Amino acid sequence: MEQSESQFAGAKLAQLKADYHVDVLADWGDGEGEWKPGTWTKAELYRLHNQIALMASIMGGSEKFVRHLGGVTVRKADIGSHGGEALSHRVSLSTKGTFSSWTVVHEFAHAWDANHGWRLSRQLEKYTGGYTSRLLSLTKRLVGLSDSGFLNPESKPGRYGRRPGCNRAGYFYGDKPSGSNWSFNRLEDFAESVAMYIGWGRNNDLSDWAEARIKRYLLENLASDKNFGIDNWTDYAKYFYPDGGDYTKTKRWQFVDDLVNGRIGNS
Ligand SMILES: [Zn+2]
Repeated sequence: MEQSESQFAGAKLAQLKADYHVDVLADWGDGEGEWKPGTWTKAELYRLHNQIALMASIMGGSEKFVRHLGGVTVRKADIGSHGGEALSHRVSLSTKGTFSSWTVVHEFAHAWDANHGWRLSRQLEKYTGGYTSRLLSLTKRLVGLSDSGFLNPESKPGRYGRRPGCNRAGYFYGDKPSGSNWSFNRLEDFAESVAMYIGWGRNNDLSDWAEARIKRYLLENLASDKNFGIDNWTDYAKYFYPDGGDYTKTKRWQFVDDLVNGRIGNS
């Protein structure tokens, strides 16, 4: 059993390297082919590989994936409270718990953006009609048009800071993202938009979550959603719920579709 797990891990690593130029920093094995239950579990290696393969297939194949991301090293690390982090050519996943398929795609989308000098998220911002202005954001908060406190979000329904510009970055998103919070900015927007595009209506590991992110806005105000908690869902529908509940009608879906089909340059 241990022998076969070690072989499995070795085979997955070789495959990720050969097909996608993805290196996983492993802590199993001692060079003698013996499995040591380390930071990565077998299920996690499956998940990582499956999501990378999914992204690549939607990009049009592994060569495209390699061209877009330019090689990535993945490691498990103590990165505080977030599930993941990414820079160009590197993705870190938290050692604190396991990671979801959504997190893998989200972090690899950041690595894709980073490999292009973070220009893809700027393009998304522009394409969707958004802009970033800390000054306007502060003004909006000052005059009470914000759904947050003045300097921070409040921990209660309708006050988490979800309206355009009501976030730390002063990011006034255009059109309809699938959600927003205090940490939202163009980089997060790009990563979430890629994950939504990959999941939406395709019956893969991301699809249920993508659908849940949209369906929550059909709830009444103060209703409790099993994934997203309690909020003023009805009030937020005008910012986030797409026409007829169809995410393909959003500018974000169109942007990622243009990007993966080569109608927007990203070289
Ligand atoms: Zn992120």
